[in-house]
Amino acid sequence: MKTLIAAIAGLALWAGAADAQNYPTRAIKLVVPFAAGGPTDVVARIVGNNMSKTLGQQIVIENIVGAGGTTGITQASQAGPDGYTLMMGHMGTHGAAPALYPNLKYDPTKDFEPVGMAAGTPILIVASKATPANDLKEFMVYAKANNQKLNQAHAGVGSVSHTTGQMLNVQLGIKPALVPFSGTGPALNDLVAGQIDFMCDQIVNLVPQILAGTIKAYAIATPERSPALPNVPTTKEAGLPDYQVSAWNAIFAPKGTPKEIVAKVNDALSKALSDEGTRKRLLDLGGVLPSDAERTPQWLAGFVATEVDRWNKVIKAAN
Ligand code: ASP
Repeated sequence: MKTLIAAIAGLALWAGAADAQNYPTRAIKLVVPFAAGGPTDVVARIVGNNMSKTLGQQIVIENIVGAGGTTGITQASQAGPDGYTLMMGHMGTHGAAPALYPNLKYDPTKDFEPVGMAAGTPILIVASKATPANDLKEFMVYAKANNQKLNQAHAGVGSVSHTTGQMLNVQLGIKPALVPFSGTGPALNDLVAGQIDFMCDQIVNLVPQILAGTIKAYAIATPERSPALPNVPTTKEAGLPDYQVSAWNAIFAPKGTPKEIVAKVNDALSKALSDEGTRKRLLDLGGVLPSDAERTPQWLAGFVATEVDRWNKVIKAAN
């Protein structure tokens, strides 16, 4: 009996190792926890497209929206850890969420196998063309005077647009009406249409509309201007130097996904980030590409821990 059990256990181990070795043998699902067309979706599609070539299997994006991205991440984290369900997390789902959702069903630092950083995404303050203010200084005056009338889009509690938007509101001392969306892709459509007055969002969502002149870009919240938007001033230049914030998107696998599989996906992601066409697509949208040292699962694990800690303090301080 004992030998039979040992033999079965050995067989299972061997089958698992063989699966990891042959991985992937079918399409891989990459869960995006926000609506199609927004920044998380755009980053996922750009890197996913190139990763499919390296892995020899299609990466299929699945948008599972709700609760600031935590619905999709919860579902994906509970999928079988076989490498066929991955997810594109971000500063909200894997940074701010634990401080804002007391009943969150996952711990960003414990319930995942970090795969790798995909892109850094600076934050911009943007407004509808119908907003009379033409620059950040005028907007600050206008926003304080029209406090009650203004509305601000966000992608759900704890999302990047929500936390960075609230940071801005606290600094300006304003309380606009908050309008939730399933992602900032649809929010941007309403900003262009003039139904939304302003929002804070990740650069990769905004560059095409800013260059087309369909929305107003008041400032980028980084120390330097972005090469993708050389005409947009920094918050320091525009008169709000303390508003400094940048987000990010990274790939995670469910806890227990075999190391060999994580290594294969990480290698495909790193190859995508070294591919000239993929790099250009991300850079043209203002994405900040991770260095070689910032591309490992270990680096991402350490980064997530510091992000959770940082947002915990920020949100406690802001009450
Ligand atoms: N950038 C958005 C947010 O968290 C979500 C999205 O990717 O659509 O605010």
